[in-house]
Amino acid sequence: MNHETRTDFLPVPIGGHTLPELKYPFNALEPVIDMQTVNIHYSKHHKAYVDALNKAELALEQARNKGDYQYIKFWEKELAFNGSGHILHSVYWDSMTSPGKGGKPGAHTSYYIAHCFGTPDAFKAQFSAAAKAVEGSGWCVLGWSPSFFRLEILQSEKHQNLTQWGVIPVLACDVWEHAYYLKYKNARPDYVDAWWQLIDWGAAEQRLIRASGGVLPIQPV
Ligand code: MN
Repeated sequence: MNHETRTDFLPVPIGGHTLPELKYPFNALEPVIDMQTVNIHYSKHHKAYVDALNKAELALEQARNKGDYQYIKFWEKELAFNGSGHILHSVYWDSMTSPGKGGKPGAHTSYYIAHCFGTPDAFKAQFSAAAKAVEGSGWCVLGWSPSFFRLEILQSEKHQNLTQWGVIPVLACDVWEHAYYLKYKNARPDYVDAWWQLIDWGAAEQRLIRASGGVLPIQPV
């Protein structure tokens, strides 16, 4: 089951993470992202995070059972790096749909974009600028901050390091080179600009409602 859409509230078993099913075929994002890139990104890169996350969880279970924590720093880092990779890739896949098929921002998304960024264009401009400026590898994330009760745009240059504790990703754009290099080569700005055609606003709205509690303040924007 895709943990982004799971409704059973059951904990994922230790070492039991699975690659979430894609809601579209590998060629569904063309021509913005080519089929081969999606295939390799999903089947190789994301799969590697899932496998390594399971390995870390099973190693930590074994450490607990044995009371042997001599490699705790190594496995905690593996847990953070691969857990974040699995979570953010799952949000990334779910953030996208075929070009032009994603509809418009829903009521909650529109409300908080207006409340937190002023206008949709200002939101898009800040997000694009942040995504293009991530150094080397990393992510640009639109996340819900339960502490501030608003949306934040955050860069993640080492995704194992949280940039604000508690923030829940609503949209994620993968800007590691493997996400775009086959088609866009070194032109990350072109990939980021084209990426907006893929946003699934319905999926974003559902994630935001789950994260924020789904209750809008009474006063209009
Ligand atoms: Mn990636």
